[in-house]
Amino acid sequence: MPISSAFVAELNRIFGKERVKTRPGDLAAYAYDGTGREHPPEVVVFPESTAEVSKVMALCDERGVPVTPRGAGTGMTGGSLPLSGGLVLALSGMDRILSIDERNLTAKVEPGVVTADFQAAVEEKGLFYPPDPGSAAFSTMGGNAAECAGGPRAVKYGVTRDYVLGLEAVIPGGAVIRTGVITAKGVVGYDLTRLLVGSEGTLAVITAVNVRLLPLPAAVSTLCAVYDRMEDAAGTVAALFAAGIVCRAIEYMDRAALLASETHLSAGLPTDAAAVLLLEVDGDPESVRREAGLASEVCRKNAAREVISADRPGEAAILWKARKSLSPALYALGPDKVNEDIVVPRTKIPEMVAKIEDIRRRTGLALATFGHAGDGNMHVNIMLDRSDPAAAAAADAAVDEIFDYTLALGGTLSGEHGVGVTKSPWLTKEIGPSELALMKGIKNLFDPKGILNPGKIFPS
Ligand SMILES: Cc1cc2nc3c(=O)[nH]c(=O)nc-3n(C[C@H](O)[C@H](O)[C@H](O)COP(=O)(O)OP(=O)(O)OC[C@H]3O[C@@H](n4cnc5c(N)ncnc54)[C@H](O)[C@@H]3O)c2cc1C
Repeated sequence: MPISSAFVAELNRIFGKERVKTRPGDLAAYAYDGTGREHPPEVVVFPESTAEVSKVMALCDERGVPVTPRGAGTGMTGGSLPLSGGLVLALSGMDRILSIDERNLTAKVEPGVVTADFQAAVEEKGLFYPPDPGSAAFSTMGGNAAECAGGPRAVKYGVTRDYVLGLEAVIPGGAVIRTGVITAKGVVGYDLTRLLVGSEGTLAVITAVNVRLLPLPAAVSTLCAVYDRMEDAAGTVAALFAAGIVCRAIEYMDRAALLASETHLSAGLPTDAAAVLLLEVDGDPESVRREAGLASEVCRKNAAREVISADRPGEAAILWKARKSLSPALYALGPDKVNEDIVVPRTKIPEMVAKIEDIRRRTGLALATFGHAGDGNMHVNIMLDRSDPAAAAAADAAVDEIFDYTLALGGTLSGEHGVGVTKSPWLTKEIGPSELALMKGIKNLFDPKGILNPGKIFPS
């Protein structure tokens, strides 16, 4: 049911007219996310406080208006798309770093703080917030918490969940809840914090995030290992762990990804290679020198034809820029992208890579694979033109095959992008009926009227 002018008038009373947008031109900017799909909302509001979020959640619950929370809209699975119209809650204006406690190594932020801004703020104080999604320069701390974002450094430091100590959030109906602790530990009651982190904006709107911090490592060394066979690059990952080396990043890029990146940026990546690994170690300068040397040896033993040290000023930054630009760079291969982020046990990466290669050969699809190989987390991208029905059917069949193989290897369908709307049709491949019933029961407990981010996660 379309929203009424009386409803908009009530929003105007809460927010003032300038923070309530209903013009199509304004709504268009909140209709998309990283999937490239479009679903315009009927109204967008820009809260500046938890109290305002509470008021609008109470109003929407009472009127049955769907609410879609939104950070920066960089999500890869359609989580911030307002599928049923209704109201988008744009949290980008709640962007204050509320505290950085240097002695307790904790911080509190509002949800709209951009992740890279927060990282820079703590680094100025000699502290470290490790979660670093490739989108850190744009994505928000609230969006990262809602998706349980990962990133290259997860291989050593873990994902967003491992840093969130507690949350302030608003549930449908308007009640403000506070979960977790600000202490180093806490086990009182069920762990609502871990339930909300990764809940993709379907249970509550996060209005503040308490995180823990680490001391900033004194030194970092970056290596680029170049391979003529992608199986050797894939096999190096488990070999590094077997050698006792805990890299802080182990990123994989196959030839299609390298070519796309070079077309986009000309960063000097070897486009004649079958694959490269981008490795990083950190710690005190002495251990970093030793570990970088050992990592380089392991790569060579596993048939790397060359291992480049990017230790001169600016070199590592260029490599990371090339890696982080891959997502947009791939659009040179096709106007539409199917973007999966499967995870397999590290020892199974060579089998997964071989499977993807087999699908590429059989189908002729434009496949490019890159990702956080240290976690077994591979971003498998199929670039295509969806207006071609044969290409669309082939891509869908390839996704089915990749998902089945991932699960057969003991993996999971998403390491960090979540289910949202794009993966929802496949949810029941991984989640059994009893677990699904429990999840739906939890959703119903938080949101009995189903107003918060409807149409996400659960297959319709
Ligand atoms: C180039 C690129 C690289 C990327 N690299 C990575 C990567 O390395 N690792 C990774 O994990 N992801 C990555 N992503 C995906 C994406 O950036 C993350 O999922 C990120 O956490 C989304 O943050 P956002 O602020 O853009 O949230 P949005 O896209 O706006 O929202 C994402 C979801 O969170 C919900 N949400 C947002 N804010 C709140 C809130 N305050 N309360 C409740 N729910 C909320 C939304 O409803 C939606 O379901 C990448 C994306 C791009 C475009």
